[in-house]
Amino acid sequence: MSAPTLTSSARNRLLDVGARATPAREHVLEILLAATRALSHQEIEAAARKQGFNFDRVTLYRVLDWLVTQQLAHKIEGQDRVWRFNAITVTSTEHGHAHFHCTRCGQVFCLEQLEPSFAVTLPAGFRFEKAELTIQGICPSCATD
Ligand SMILES: [Zn+2]
Ligand SMILES: [Zn+2]
Repeated sequence: MSAPTLTSSARNRLLDVGARATPAREHVLEILLAATRALSHQEIEAAARKQGFNFDRVTLYRVLDWLVTQQLAHKIEGQDRVWRFNAITVTSTEHGHAHFHCTRCGQVFCLEQLEPSFAVTLPAGFRFEKAELTIQGICPSCATD
């Protein structure tokens, strides 16, 4: 994982939506793209600080909301009522995707390859709009403990 590649991919995504690639937008998106799971505000703040970026909380909240409205990221409310964010890497997420909530460590993972296809087989007369499926269980790193 080399930083230059990540930077250019975050920047390309911003340019794709016709947005101005400000350092804050680019950096937050980069953190989300590099993450293997959904991150809370706190975790994003900590990751940024570790890389020498210091956002004030207001900027971070604003950037995250903006990324969500631009559909570059999505947010998930965990069972613990904490909002977590992750980059949207697949464009064909019309039907959304499932999430996995680890009941041991509380982390939330995006299962982008798992589309809740049951929702498409609705009885006659029902029209599908959106499905949110969260699977509860034990994540790989907790399972090995
Ligand atoms: Zn876990
Ligand atoms: Zn997700």
